[in-house]
Amino acid sequence: MLAGPTAVGKGTVAAEIRRHHPEVWISVSATTRPPRPGEENGVHYWFVSDDDFDAMIERGDLLEWAVVHKTARYGTPRGPVELALASGRPAMLEIDLQGARQVRETMPEALFVFLAPPSWEELVRRLVGRGTEGAAERERRLETARAELAAESEFDETIVNHEVHDAAEQLVALMTARSPVPDPD
Ligand code: 5GP
Repeated sequence: MLAGPTAVGKGTVAAEIRRHHPEVWISVSATTRPPRPGEENGVHYWFVSDDDFDAMIERGDLLEWAVVHKTARYGTPRGPVELALASGRPAMLEIDLQGARQVRETMPEALFVFLAPPSWEELVRRLVGRGTEGAAERERRLETARAELAAESEFDETIVNHEVHDAAEQLVALMTARSPVPDPD
């Protein structure tokens, strides 16, 4: 499980792992936020309506869910996670701190990894540089990030995201140490 403050690069690290480590299964979250340019339904997220999200909650389809940055809901579909775990593949969720706390309750045996920025200044620089949010949204995300940084001690491991490739390799090493890929023989 990978969590960490906004704009620290969780999505980029997940994309790097998707590219170079097909043996790792990565959960696709459902969200009520609209897609950004280049984002594909079923690849980056399942983009769903508020009504669909309500229905998923009611059916118990979500392992965890949270309102993130006070704007949209995000949640992890439960079925695919259970299938991946049953197959013995290293499985990864990329979620926010509220979600990580819920999973901690239901799956205490999972490995909780905190992705940290090299510094607060670097985190602000990345959030501004990304340019996908307006000023008000950016402020909201920085407020969330400040609180999330304080939660690092709740995690089993911390990876400092100096460089995306290194961070991805460190994460895969931690995951495979925890759930070795089954030997095909
Ligand atoms: P973004 O809108 O930038 O893609 O993601 C915003 C935040 O939502 C990120 O911090 C990301 O980790 C979090 N997030 C993405 N998917 C999930 C999920 O399934 N559950 C929870 N709790 N947070 C999620």
